[in-house]
Amino acid sequence: MSNLSHDPLYRDTPLILSVSGVSKSFDGFKAINDLNFYLEEGELRTVIGPNGAGKSTFMDIITGRTRPDEGAVTLHGIDGHDTNLAKLREYEINRLGIGRKFQTPSVYKSHTVYDNLVLSLQGHRGVFKTLFYREQPADRERIMEVLKTIRLESRAHDLAGSLSHGQKQWLEIGMLLAQDPRILLIDEPAAGMSDEETERTGELLLSLEKKHSLIVIEHDMEFIRQIARKVTVLHQGHVLKDGKFDVVKSDPKVIEVYLGRQGKKENNK
Ligand code: ADP
Ligand code: MG
Repeated sequence: MSNLSHDPLYRDTPLILSVSGVSKSFDGFKAINDLNFYLEEGELRTVIGPNGAGKSTFMDIITGRTRPDEGAVTLHGIDGHDTNLAKLREYEINRLGIGRKFQTPSVYKSHTVYDNLVLSLQGHRGVFKTLFYREQPADRERIMEVLKTIRLESRAHDLAGSLSHGQKQWLEIGMLLAQDPRILLIDEPAAGMSDEETERTGELLLSLEKKHSLIVIEHDMEFIRQIARKVTVLHQGHVLKDGKFDVVKSDPKVIEVYLGRQGKKENNK
């Protein structure tokens, strides 16, 4: 990709997020090394790479959990106003519309599916204030819409603890959606899922494209094949390659650093 294509003036679709020249060391070890990454508005991007490539650290930097040593992380506003995320705290970044889903689901097991969504819609108000919450029609509409998107309408009044592992993951994605984020960061959504659940997760993520911008970290190659638009391969904290899935997967450097190991890992399963 030429540098020109990173210039907002030369794009059909505006950028929503720019990560440029970002580095981060832990005890002298460069976990992220001069990373450049540009996400378009409404894009669904998958990020792959071997263990230790810096994928989770990359998400930590975007969400403010980790501060970069150098470089800029910029959120581009709809109004053309840019925000430097590298200076903000985690909750401030979250309020700007960047939601993150960690690998293990963290739903409120003793609340119903519906109430979990109510709680997340309330955002920072917390459980106590939610006790005195009176549902607004617009909230109910939003929750019904989310339930439909995550295909859990029929489970709305069941306890979240009674859901399967995959359904809990969808509920947690729904809890992020209830807050209507501009960018969703999702770390290995298909881990531990059955084949059918994995495929449904792919359909769910594809249905979110355009309405939100998404960065999905994943290892499962079948799953990546299903959802892949543009794929970014991280290696030693740097972008090794990005482009269409078919181009990326047949790149010799990518095969060497990632797919070779992936093959071994798959055999160990
Ligand atoms: P990935 O998610 O691609 O497997 P990570 O981002 O978790 O990779 O880690 C990248 C590298 O940075 C690893 O070598 C890891 O040990 C190191 N690392 C990540 N976070 C920390 C930390 N908080 N302290 C020290 N080293 C870390
Ligand atoms: Mg990781």
